[in-house]
Amino acid sequence: MMNIDTDAPVMVTGATGYVAGWIVKRLLDEGLTVHAAVRDPDNAEKLKYLNALAESAPGEIRYFKADLMAEGSYDEAMAGCSVVFHTASPFVLRVKDPQKDLVDPAMLGTRNVLESANRTPSVKRVVLTSSCVAIYGDNVDIDDTPDGIFTEEIWNTSSSLDHQPYAYSKTLAEKEAWKIHNQQDRWDLVVINPSFVLGPGINPFASSESFKLIKQLGDGTMKAGVPRLGLGAVDVRDLAEAHVKAAFTPGANGRNIISAHNTDFFELAQALVERYGKDYPIPRRALPKWLVWLVGPLADKTMSRKMIARNVDRPWKGDNSKAVRELGLSYRSLKETMEDFFQQMIDSGYLKGRRS
Ligand code: NAP
Repeated sequence: MMNIDTDAPVMVTGATGYVAGWIVKRLLDEGLTVHAAVRDPDNAEKLKYLNALAESAPGEIRYFKADLMAEGSYDEAMAGCSVVFHTASPFVLRVKDPQKDLVDPAMLGTRNVLESANRTPSVKRVVLTSSCVAIYGDNVDIDDTPDGIFTEEIWNTSSSLDHQPYAYSKTLAEKEAWKIHNQQDRWDLVVINPSFVLGPGINPFASSESFKLIKQLGDGTMKAGVPRLGLGAVDVRDLAEAHVKAAFTPGANGRNIISAHNTDFFELAQALVERYGKDYPIPRRALPKWLVWLVGPLADKTMSRKMIARNVDRPWKGDNSKAVRELGLSYRSLKETMEDFFQQMIDSGYLKGRRS
C-alpha cells in the first residue's frame, strides 16, 4: 500500500528530462512539492512544459540550479526533502569523449548527489534511475546467464569505454550508488532498471535518444528495413508509476527491472504499420544480419561491427516479475505506447512531413 506523506518536499534531479517529466507530473498530481533540480532554471522554453503541469495540479514546483559535475550543487535543492529521485544522466549514443561526456557525469554525478543525501538529514529514501544496461551490455550476454534470462542478480561485465560506453557509464554509476548506500544506514536505496523507454514526452522535443530512434521509423531513414535488434521496452508513463511506487511502497528494495515487453526493433516498427503505414514510410522488412553488418557502420557511427555481431538477430529476454509483484505494476501494450509516441511526433511537428 502506498502511503504518501505530502508534508515534506521531494527532489527530482534532471527534472527537464524525458523520464523525469512524467515522474514530476505524478508527484504534482499527488499534491507534493517538487524541488526540481535543473541545469538552467532561466531556460523558460524548456521549463514551460513543467510549469504547465504545475498550473493544473495540486502540487507545487520549485526550481534549483544544479549540475552533476559541480560538487555540493544539489545541497540546496535537497534541503528538507524526504525522497530523492536521481534521474539525471546523459543518455546519448554519439559522443566524442566517452569518459568526459558519459562516465564522469553518470558516476561522479551519482556520487555528488548521494553525498548531498548523506549531508541532508531529512532524506529517507533515494530512488535511482539506473538502466537494464547496468545488467547486460550486449544481447549475447544472455548466453552467460544461469537461466537464459536477464534478472536483477546480473551485472553488465561486457561494456567498456570503447564498447557500449553508455551502458558502461550506467553500470559504474549504479555500482557507485550501492557503494555509498552501503556505508550508511539512514536512507535506503531503491534502484529502477528500465529497458528502452518509449511513449509521449511531457516535452515533445526531449533530447533523449528514445526520440531520435523512433523518429527514424517514420522519416524515411529506415524505409529499406530495420534490424532485428532484440531489446526490452517500457512506456514512459508506466516507468513514472514505477518510480513513485518505489518511493512510497515501504518494502520496496534492491534493483527492479522495469520492462513491459521482450521485443526487437522490427516489432516496434510493425506496431505502427496498421495506423500509420499508409501515410508514413514505416519499415516493413527485417534486414538480414549480414547486410546490417556490411552497411550499418557506414550509415551509423554508433553501430560498430562488434555491436552488430553481438546484438542483431539475438533476442532479448528480461524477467520483470519482481517489480510487478512487489510494486504492483501493470504495463501498457506495445501498440498503445508506439501509437501514442508516434502521434505526438506528428502533432508536435517533431516528425516533419509525409514522405511515403
Ligand atoms: P534525457 O531526456 O536526455 O534526460 C537526461 C537528463 O539528465 C536531462 O534532464 C539533462 O538535463 C540531465 N543531465 C545531463 N547531464 C547533466 C549534467 N551534467 N548536470 C545536470 N543534469 C544533467 O534522457 P532520459 O531518457 O529521460 O534519461 C533519464 C534517465 O533515464 C537517465 O538516467 C537514463 O540513463 C535513464 N534511462 C533512460 C532510458 C531510455 O530509454 N530513455 C532507458 C533506461 C534508463 P538538461 O535538460 O539540462 O540537458
